[in-house]
Amino acid sequence: MKRKRIVSGMRPTGKLHLGHLHGALLNWKKLQEEYDCFYFIADWHALTSEYSDTGIIRESINDIIIDWISVGLDPEACTFFIQSQIKEHSELHLIFSMITPLPWLERNPTYKEQLTELSQKNLSTYGFLGYPVLQAADILMYKANGVPVGEDQAPHVELTREIARRFNHMYCQVFPEPDVLLTPTSKLLGIDRRKMSKSYDNAILLSDSEEDIDKKVAQMITDPQRARKTDPGDPAVCNVFSFHEMYTNSETVERIGGECRSAGIGCVECKKIMAAGLEKGLEPVRERRKELEADTKKIEEIIAEGNARAQSIAIETMEEVRRAIKIE
Ligand code: SF4
Repeated sequence: MKRKRIVSGMRPTGKLHLGHLHGALLNWKKLQEEYDCFYFIADWHALTSEYSDTGIIRESINDIIIDWISVGLDPEACTFFIQSQIKEHSELHLIFSMITPLPWLERNPTYKEQLTELSQKNLSTYGFLGYPVLQAADILMYKANGVPVGEDQAPHVELTREIARRFNHMYCQVFPEPDVLLTPTSKLLGIDRRKMSKSYDNAILLSDSEEDIDKKVAQMITDPQRARKTDPGDPAVCNVFSFHEMYTNSETVERIGGECRSAGIGCVECKKIMAAGLEKGLEPVRERRKELEADTKKIEEIIAEGNARAQSIAIETMEEVRRAIKIE
């Protein structure tokens, strides 16, 4: 039976971290068992915020593909491709931009939020307002049945559905309306207890060495009520404990929880135990990463194959689209 298709992408704006792993990649890995997966590097999307200094985009592409494979995404089972290499996305984006009413974009909740959050960058651009239209083109190009996204991105998929509906209604039925496949939000915060993000400089990277991890874990903010070792703590509000729950064996997690509440363990010792578990958990990723870094030719081949697979579908979709709008 033909598998249902899903499409999802990542912006190449730096190395991937544990937030990406627990907030997207482990889910993508599960989905590859069941779906025909198209995972792409959204380099044109990265331009919306990195347009004045694009160096990071090129630098990050191979790194991200290496991270994907290192955590267990299978390039044989999935299609990995680079958005900017499939020029058809820009044509479909342009056509969708003609039929998308401006208020649909202006009401987008993440638009206003990001304008405030990334206030150090000038995002008052046409491209930034319109990036959900480009996303719609990325998704609908492959006639995806579903899009795995976090809750914050769900309104964008809704917009994609609206654009598909409008196109089908105006011209003829070309696009299916994709479902949102909601990805649970990662519980792991950055070392400063804000959302883990490269731009906050608070992330533990998948490519970090053991020394890097030790240093970052030592800096992690714990339960603010535990000013002294003799103060009892509350693991439920401690980010270090959330990491324990993912990377330490369950017996030790239970013991640490009790000892934290009774002030029987200090945060320094607790962090050391967590760092050791985290390093062990990431060891296979690091090992695989090393092998792949030594074989850049293989990475280039994987990208070229994925691009070719994606483009053959994009060419067919665009033929249909051009016929539908009667501009061929
Ligand atoms: S002992 Fe561990 S769980 Fe408790 S506050 Fe300190 S770091 Fe957090």
